[in-house]
Amino acid sequence: MVNRLQQLQKLAKDKHNENKKYFDKLKKKTPKNLDYQMQDIHDEVFKRIDCLECANCCKTTGPLFTQQDVERISKYLKIKPQQFFDNYLRIDEDKDTVLKELPCHFLDFENKCMIYDVRPKACREYPHTDRKKFQQITALTLNNVSICPAAYEVVEQMKKKIPL
Ligand code: SF4
Ligand code: SF4
Repeated sequence: MVNRLQQLQKLAKDKHNENKKYFDKLKKKTPKNLDYQMQDIHDEVFKRIDCLECANCCKTTGPLFTQQDVERISKYLKIKPQQFFDNYLRIDEDKDTVLKELPCHFLDFENKCMIYDVRPKACREYPHTDRKKFQQITALTLNNVSICPAAYEVVEQMKKKIPL
């Protein structure tokens, strides 16, 4: 998996223009049943990919934290939200609340999330390839294909199964 992750950035870079053109078409002529097709492709890809062999999202990007995330996780850790913020989070240049350091402090040595049951909403939803109205998050996905092998594979499958 390490080799595959090293190759992923190059593969994604090579596909960038092709993916961008495809997504531009997708936004202009979105198939009526896109949500259903995306769910099928997402499920099929995630049957083949084991996130525990990867954890690249937790190692290299990390989520945005909402106030609800901060409150839920700090309660679970039995510390005050402000203490949780001071220990692990910062405000970035876009004024989003993000991890202070990467890899994520809560990723253990087996690639498991130590706060899995209460993890941020953005972690639960990453890489967002089963999101409704997928055509609205193509800019985000263009970036995610260089981080997430599953997102890369979903986009490759989309181009085959949903020709535009
Ligand atoms: S969501 Fe993607 S980047 Fe994150 S662990 Fe799974 S395959 Fe890897
Ligand atoms: S909170 Fe858990 S799922 Fe989210 S980035 Fe950290 S280790 Fe990964």
